[in-house]
Order: sequence, then C-alpha cells, then structure tokens
Amino acid sequence: MDVEEFRVRGKEMVDYICQYMSNLGNYRVTPDIEPGYLKKLLPKEAPEEPEEWDNIMEDMDKKIMPGITHWQHPRFHAYFPSGNSYPSILADMMSDAIGCIGFSWAASPACTELETIVMDWLGKAIGLPDDFITSKEESKGGGVIQTSASECVLVTMLAARNQAIQYLKRDHPSTVDSEFLPQLICYCSKEAHSCVEKAAKILLVQIKILDTDENGSLRGETLRDVMEKDKANGLFPFFVSAILGSTSSCSFDNLEEIGPVCREQACTWLHVDAAYAGNAFICPELKYYLKGVEYIDSFNTNPNKWLLTSFDCSCLWVKNRYRLTSALVVDPLYLQHANSDEAIDYRHWGIPLSRRFRSLKLWFVIRKYGLSGLQKYIRNHINLAKHFESLVRKDKRFEVVNDVQLGLVCFRLVAPDIVNQSLLATINASGKLHMIPSMVKEKYIIRFCVTAENATQEDIEHAWRVITEHTSELLSRKSI
Ligand code: PLP
Repeated sequence: MDVEEFRVRGKEMVDYICQYMSNLGNYRVTPDIEPGYLKKLLPKEAPEEPEEWDNIMEDMDKKIMPGITHWQHPRFHAYFPSGNSYPSILADMMSDAIGCIGFSWAASPACTELETIVMDWLGKAIGLPDDFITSKEESKGGGVIQTSASECVLVTMLAARNQAIQYLKRDHPSTVDSEFLPQLICYCSKEAHSCVEKAAKILLVQIKILDTDENGSLRGETLRDVMEKDKANGLFPFFVSAILGSTSSCSFDNLEEIGPVCREQACTWLHVDAAYAGNAFICPELKYYLKGVEYIDSFNTNPNKWLLTSFDCSCLWVKNRYRLTSALVVDPLYLQHANSDEAIDYRHWGIPLSRRFRSLKLWFVIRKYGLSGLQKYIRNHINLAKHFESLVRKDKRFEVVNDVQLGLVCFRLVAPDIVNQSLLATINASGKLHMIPSMVKEKYIIRFCVTAENATQEDIEHAWRVITEHTSELLSRKSI
C-alpha cells in the first residue's frame, strides 16, 4: 500500500468506524455463533499472493464482525468499561504511524518525556501525594504506563521481593537470593483480583488470601493477626496488595488501618490496586477513598477501564522509583546512551523492553475532554448506577447486594443461586443485554456495570425492562 492508497483507505476506515459506532445499538451485544465458527469461514493457509483491500474489508464485515462482542454497545454491562473515545482512537493511530519503540529516552525522547508529564498530570489529578510526582521537589517517585493492571501488580511485587531479600541479606550476606524465597509471604483479601495470586505464583512466594468484613473490606486487625502468626512461624511479610474498588462488588479495603500495620513490619511494601475505581478519584468529592494513601508504596489505575482511553493504558505510580528499577535493571551496552544519568529509561520500570507510545492517547484524551469533562463522564456513570439501584430496590423480587458507590451494581433475585444462573443465562442468550456473574457474600450475584461513554437514563431503563421481562417469563415458567 502506498501513501496515496493509504490516504483513501484511511478515510474509508474512519467512515467505517463512524458507521460502526453510530449503529452499534442495532447489533446483538454478544455474537450468536459457536466456538470454531471462524475456522469454517477462513482459509487454512495464509495467502501466497497479495489480496484486494475490498476483499479484506468484505471479510471483515461478513466474517469477523459477526463474531464480535460489542464492548462499546449501550447494552453492554459486563466486566468494567473498556475505555474508548474518538480522541483515543485517533491518538493510537498517530502512535502506530510514528511506530517508535520508546524503551529509553534516546530511543524517542518525546515518548519518554510525555509519559512522565502525563503521569504527573494524572497522578496530581487523582490526588496522589507529592512523593509520587516526578516533578515535585525532592521526589524520588514517578509514574509509568504498563500494559495491564496484572503487570503493575507483578512488577511491584517483584520490587517488594527484591527489597525484602536485600533486607534479609544484611544478616546473611553469603546466602543466595533464592534461598530466602520460602520465607517470603504476601497478602491480599478475598476481594482482590486474581492477578495478585498469579503474581505470587510467578514469583514463587507464598500468599494468604484474607477474609474481609461484611462490607468486603480488609481490616487492619485481620491483617495484623495473620502477620503476627506468620512471623511467629518464621515467615517474612513482604508485600500487601490492597484493593480500592474490587472486581466483584467494588468494595474498598481500609487503607487507614492496613497502612499502619504494614509500617509496623520490618520491610513490607503496600500496594494499592485501584484498576477501575482509581480513575474516579479525579473527582474532588471522591478523594476520600484515598484516606490512608500516605502509607502506600505504589498505586495503579487503568484509564483503559474508566477514563475513555483505549487498551492498553495501565498507570502505575511508585513512591521510590529506585526501589522499582533496582529489581529490574539490566544494562547492555547497546541500550545505553549519553543521557542515561539524567533521563528516565522506562525499560527499567517494567518487564518488556519494547514499549508503545501509550502516553499519546492519554494526553489527547485529557486535553480534549479536560479534567472537567472526564469528571462529568465519571459522575454520569455513578448517577446512572444509582438510578439502576433504585429500580432494583423498588422490585421486591430482587435485592441489591453491594454498597453502590461508583458505577457497579450487584443484584440478584431473592431466590436460590440456580434461579439467578438461569435468569442471567437467558438474558445473555437473548443478545439484548450482556452482564456477568460473581460471588458476593457467598451468593451468586449478577453484576451490572455502566460502561458506555454516553450512557443515558433511557439506556438504564431499557436494560431494566429487559431484565424484568425475562424475570417474569422465568418465574412464570417455574410456577407452571
Ligand atoms: N485489578 C482489578 C481491580 C480489576 O478489576 C482487574 C480487571 O478487571 C484487574 C486488576 C486486572 O486487570 P488487567 O486486565 O489490566 O490485568
């Protein structure tokens, strides 16, 4: 494809995207296909000869689109939002065109410097302490964009593991690092995302998954009791991952209590996973969720969930970047450059060497919406979730199971789990709405999350009509 063809096809692609976005509401939310459907439609071998663009686009339309789950659909209420917006799409297009691999400052200076600046903007907007902001005087901290929240948790746990081993080594300098591993133990609550358990698995450390209180919150006393017992058994608590806005029910750990417990320990890193909820802290009235933030060592949130920025854009801030990089630095000659001493090289802040120009889309989004526009978007979702909650509460066949604070409502029929399972299965099979289940307080619940950028009250009421129609149908069948 030469530049002239790209000019034409690029404009056609933008038209195609506009058409798709405008008509999204007319599709089924989930595809009506069986596993393996695409194998029957596409050739087994890659084409030997170049193909016509029109033929590729025709297949896109007829073969790929029918297998798409439409995450941007106004009736998509599953998981958490998949951040997206026109400025983000356009910025990603530019990032792809520039095609730089910004692993070091020298590899593309603007790519590194914009990331530092935008992470400072967002860190300040969220309300992180000055220690986390690169440009603040005396700060040793800073922010970096990772691919996913799972990666943020993994690299912080890795840094914490390194810090703990260095600490233990002071009394046992000749012991090899791996011999300390059996002593190391980390903690999270039952509400934490499974990525914490996965990180512990990768890093060969023990993990304890702790009970929460009745609101799904990990409390200081629970953590302290378990840590004391573990220490008495010769273990070394090295890392705690607290959750602000859990995946199942959007519950919040008690940072104000957990923080001092971590501080009482010899060397325990406190991380906060706020993958979804952290974005909302840009609203002044929601900053109280950060109470206790002065105790934390690192914090992650995903603008690619709830800040209109397309995947991947998972933001991680650390209070001391040297404690992160000292676990990750490997420095071959071919990656060094003349400005290594004063410039940031993000290759030392994470696992991959190669990095996309991800800050560009966040920069476009923050500038195009302004913080006020982003706050308005978050508040709209919260108001709509509250509206949905009020509709559920008015119908005595249902109960609301979580404390609805942000954009997620967990609800269920007051009936055995199996009935709720049938209800969700029939609604999802209809293709009219998409939601997913979870377990909250030992009960099977249905999660309803507000996800679409421009979601309206009418969308929420429409969703509730679909739910109640299926409920009446199901219950009448059951009583026959
Ligand atoms: N943490 C929380 C609270 C989440 O809700 C999720 C996913 O929804 C994750 C971590 C994992 O996110 P990622 O897919 O970016 O690894």
